[in-house]
Amino acid sequence: MKELVIVSGKGGTGKTTITAALAALAPNPLIADCDVDAPNLHLLLGPEIQSTEEFIEAKVAVINPELCTGCGACEVACKFDAISPSFQVDPIMCEGCGVCFISCPADAIEMHERLSGYIYASETNYGPMAHALLLAGESNSGKLVTRVRELASNLAKKHGRKLILIDGPPGIACAAISAITGASAGLVVTEPTVPAIHDLQRVLELFQHFNMPVMVLTNKADLNIQKAQEIEEYCHQKGIPVVGELNYDPIMYKAVVAGRPIVEYAPSNMLSKGLKAIWKKVEQQLDAFQEA
Ligand code: SF4
Ligand code: SF4
Repeated sequence: MKELVIVSGKGGTGKTTITAALAALAPNPLIADCDVDAPNLHLLLGPEIQSTEEFIEAKVAVINPELCTGCGACEVACKFDAISPSFQVDPIMCEGCGVCFISCPADAIEMHERLSGYIYASETNYGPMAHALLLAGESNSGKLVTRVRELASNLAKKHGRKLILIDGPPGIACAAISAITGASAGLVVTEPTVPAIHDLQRVLELFQHFNMPVMVLTNKADLNIQKAQEIEEYCHQKGIPVVGELNYDPIMYKAVVAGRPIVEYAPSNMLSKGLKAIWKKVEQQLDAFQEA
């Protein structure tokens, strides 16, 4: 089974709209939205949820007022200002560290599990999909990404899918590392701006660190042709394949508003034709990486 993770150095490069288009072009893919902090892929693929699982990874302190003596030790101990002077825990501020639990001389504090999000197994017109929702204010996105990937792998086996397309988080933080680690290859979507090129280099270093094959796609290339050429030259020097360039076209936003992948919304548009050619190159490159 191949796992292609589509990432970007920063948000706003068009990573998710491109992932949606590739999901519509790929033959029988399993789709995973691992951009759990800002999941958007469902808006373009219209998944119908088949099953829901709770994601419980965090804890929250709960004070039993019947046992509390009002000594104040917990309020002093909490470095997150989550305990009020009247010894109430603010569940949003509480990081679940357990220091108050250890500090309480009256054993008045319990650490309860708390719901951090949901994990979904869904069906779409393009294939089964694993995705998630991280509740507001919750952390642990790296663990949630791992859970979504586990579900994606199980669904792929169950449905006999040989390719998992992962919409990964932007950047190089914990969630991005969780999405990249162990995948077959990466596709980095970038754009020709100075910050985007800087972020591209950091993401490529991440792939290099994990000794993973990677390819690059420049979106909105015509917004700065010189910078697009710089990206191509940089990748060429590093031996990283560039699978193509896409020009800026506001029709992409119309497809997003319509909630459909661009290759279905406007199949004869130049963007769609470009994406079809890019998908062929991505497939060839995946085969080449596997043979290498
Ligand atoms: S668990 Fe940690 S963050 Fe939460 S109230 Fe206790 S000391 Fe504060
Ligand atoms: S440390 Fe325990 S007993 Fe003291 S104020 Fe906090 S909850 Fe109450």
